[in-house]
Amino acid sequence: MNTALTEEQQMIQDTARQFAQNELLPNAAKLDQGDGQDILLNNLKQLAELGFMGLSINGEYGGTEAGSVAFSLAITEIAKGCASTAVTTSVTNMVAEVIQAVGNEEQKQKYIPKICSGEYPAAGFCLTEVEAGSDPAGMKTSAIKDGDEYILNGSKMFITSAEYAGVFVVWAVTDATAKKGKGISCFLVENGTPGLIVGPAEHKMGQKASATNEVRFEDCRIPASALMGKENDGFRVAVAELAGGRIGIGSLAVGIGLAAMDYARDYISQRKQFDQELSKFQGLQWILADRYTDLEAARLLLMNAACLKEQGQAFSKQASMAKLFASEKANIACYDALQMLGGYGYIKEYPLERLTRDVRITSIYEGTSEIQRIVIARELLKEIA
Ligand SMILES: Cc1cc2nc3c(=O)[nH]c(=O)nc-3n(C[C@H](O)[C@H](O)[C@H](O)COP(=O)(O)OP(=O)(O)OC[C@H]3O[C@@H](n4cnc5c(N)ncnc54)[C@H](O)[C@@H]3O)c2cc1C
Repeated sequence: MNTALTEEQQMIQDTARQFAQNELLPNAAKLDQGDGQDILLNNLKQLAELGFMGLSINGEYGGTEAGSVAFSLAITEIAKGCASTAVTTSVTNMVAEVIQAVGNEEQKQKYIPKICSGEYPAAGFCLTEVEAGSDPAGMKTSAIKDGDEYILNGSKMFITSAEYAGVFVVWAVTDATAKKGKGISCFLVENGTPGLIVGPAEHKMGQKASATNEVRFEDCRIPASALMGKENDGFRVAVAELAGGRIGIGSLAVGIGLAAMDYARDYISQRKQFDQELSKFQGLQWILADRYTDLEAARLLLMNAACLKEQGQAFSKQASMAKLFASEKANIACYDALQMLGGYGYIKEYPLERLTRDVRITSIYEGTSEIQRIVIARELLKEIA
């Protein structure tokens, strides 16, 4: 793996950093109050205009064609400014990639340019259900063929951006008699389709500006042409595409962890106790050293997974390792950074309180840490089989 960035990757990182520091960070606390949807939508529009909604998408569909390393770098920088904006950007990129990977030409031409250009503020990934979270193959949402249509019935849980997503990739059971995971298909469903009902936003611990909604299907009729890829081959697609999404979430976690540590490092360099700056105490210096080392290692794991993905090689094990490590180390970084601010870390006026809440979900969504360990162990055991 070559860790030196190309000129293009460097430019994308710099652009994302500038945008995040100038446009996202000043509003992050306001967005956290949960009343800044206009600001979020404006952020998303601007990010699309800068080319951040289709970083690994081919130019012919309006994408940036910059690749997974650039995607990872961009998400980390965006997350340093606003985690809610970062998760929306990450999931939207993932949906565009699913369509590029398995959609037919008509589907690609119809939907991807709207995602990349910002005509759709975001796109949604509908996999999880109330009774099928870590085990999505156990889903119950059904898609029954009726002439040249499918009828969707069921409910998807915790769907990021559902309120403002223009289009959803939806997984549903098309053959209830098939073995587990073998009778699931993947569809493109436009928001606003009759029978698709978006529930109210969940009240969350963190990343509050990113809406998380239930999406229900009640006799929702979609054309047969909405099927993506082959019928009953959808679960394989979900598993493959989630691996790419995990690079996004790991990168997001690193961004939050770095934002927390950078703030704490500046703070302890100013704050005096016992007649000297806190940064003079070795007890705190070692925490700084350990946490920045963790985050750097996480960044390198992410780069490795992203490089493999760009080269078209297997990267699922590496993506799970990177997501597991990055999200858990970023949680520890936020905890320690808050501790370094003492009582002030606990007060809303300072960003650590928000960052510590924002980071918590990164070891849960797009596969919990336990599920990442299952994926890693499965791949390791396959290697010797
Ligand atoms: C804010 C937010 C946004 C989300 N966005 C989306 C989205 O856009 N699209 C989408 O489809 N989903 C989304 N999700 C869903 C998310 O991916 C799931 O919540 C997650 O995969 C875990 O599923 P669950 O919540 O049902 O937990 P469960 O599966 O019930 O797990 C509960 C606990 O049991 C553990 N566990 C489960 N199975 C095992 C096992 N075999 N071995 C050891 N431990 C195990 C889990 O790790 C976890 O700790 C989102 C969730 C949240 C909270």
